[in-house]
Amino acid sequence: MYLAQILKQHFPSFDFSFDYPLGQKSYFKVGGKAEVFYSAKNRQEAIDLLLFCQRENIKFYVVGDLSNVVIADEGLKGLVLHLGFDELRLISAHNEELVYQADSGLKTSTLVGKVALLGASGLEGFIGVPGTVGAAIYNNAHYLDNLIGNYVKQVEVFDVKKAAIVQFTREKCEFAYEQSIFQKEPNLLIFSAYFTLKKLPLDQIKQKMQLAIKQRELTQPLNLPSSGCIFRNPKNNEHLKNLFPQFSQAKFIPAGFLIEQAGLKGVSEGDIQVSEKHAAFLLNLGHGKSADVQKLIAKVKDVILNKFGVILEEEVFYLK
Ligand SMILES: Cc1cc2nc3c(=O)[nH]c(=O)nc-3n(C[C@H](O)[C@H](O)[C@H](O)COP(=O)(O)OP(=O)(O)OC[C@H]3O[C@@H](n4cnc5c(N)ncnc54)[C@H](O)[C@@H]3O)c2cc1C
Repeated sequence: MYLAQILKQHFPSFDFSFDYPLGQKSYFKVGGKAEVFYSAKNRQEAIDLLLFCQRENIKFYVVGDLSNVVIADEGLKGLVLHLGFDELRLISAHNEELVYQADSGLKTSTLVGKVALLGASGLEGFIGVPGTVGAAIYNNAHYLDNLIGNYVKQVEVFDVKKAAIVQFTREKCEFAYEQSIFQKEPNLLIFSAYFTLKKLPLDQIKQKMQLAIKQRELTQPLNLPSSGCIFRNPKNNEHLKNLFPQFSQAKFIPAGFLIEQAGLKGVSEGDIQVSEKHAAFLLNLGHGKSADVQKLIAKVKDVILNKFGVILEEEVFYLK
């Protein structure tokens, strides 16, 4: 029996999409279709589907808003599950400290905007990060040197293998630049996150958000489809410090700077091009394919390795 029939039979009230144009729905607009797509309205729907897939050996993917993924051209077999629950709750307020719980499906920018209006500070820099809270935890989203994990108190996780909801303290999440335990453990799915924030007057919070928005508009090419920065910033080292003394105090060196120094701005593969504005962004000029993205990434990595001895790593996640 086809997956579509199996799922319809077991979950007759669920409004599945079949042959869903996943690539075109992604921010990058590359890649093929999902065999089945579903947006879970609540935790129970997600749990029922995940356990069913686990039991029946059906491949599944959990996604947010598809702003940090490259979807395979041939599409994805199995179920692509979007976590659609998106509530925000105030958990505690003691003196200057506020703790909020945000569901996975809440947009990061909505979280930042809502807590700002409630006078809670900390997340302002993340106002322009596209996508959802769940994925921001998964990649430990960053704004300049600031990591979202710094504000996390705990994360509510569904462990598919244990078939149980478990709580992860911040320490257990193993947050580091662009890293978390969730990237290593695909059976751990993020259902919500608790953030510890500080009270601050609204005008000061607004100022910080405006600064972050301006900085983004100035530096990022936001007029064409992309997945944001394709590469992580590599660790700085003595060789790079000698080459680029302006970064002698920096822990990481911007990948975009190295790519620009290598003369790769504007280089393209098919309809995928290294941005002229921010060289760590690859842009889709129209009909770019996932294969073009991978070829261009390989080309950039090769040049950077030969020129600077640096191994660049992807910040985006491939779904295949
Ligand atoms: C223009 C632009 C600017 C950007 N700027 C920034 C920036 O400043 N800082 C930054 O950090 N990122 C930035 N990004 C990248 C991206 O927005 C973030 O990584 C964001 O957190 C991804 O959210 P999403 O919901 O779209 O995730 P998706 O792309 O849907 O998913 C990303 C990964 O997370 C996994 N995932 C999603 N939800 C869950 C879950 N609940 N549990 C377990 N795994 C999950 C997916 O399987 C996938 O591997 C930018 C992207 C764009 C397009």
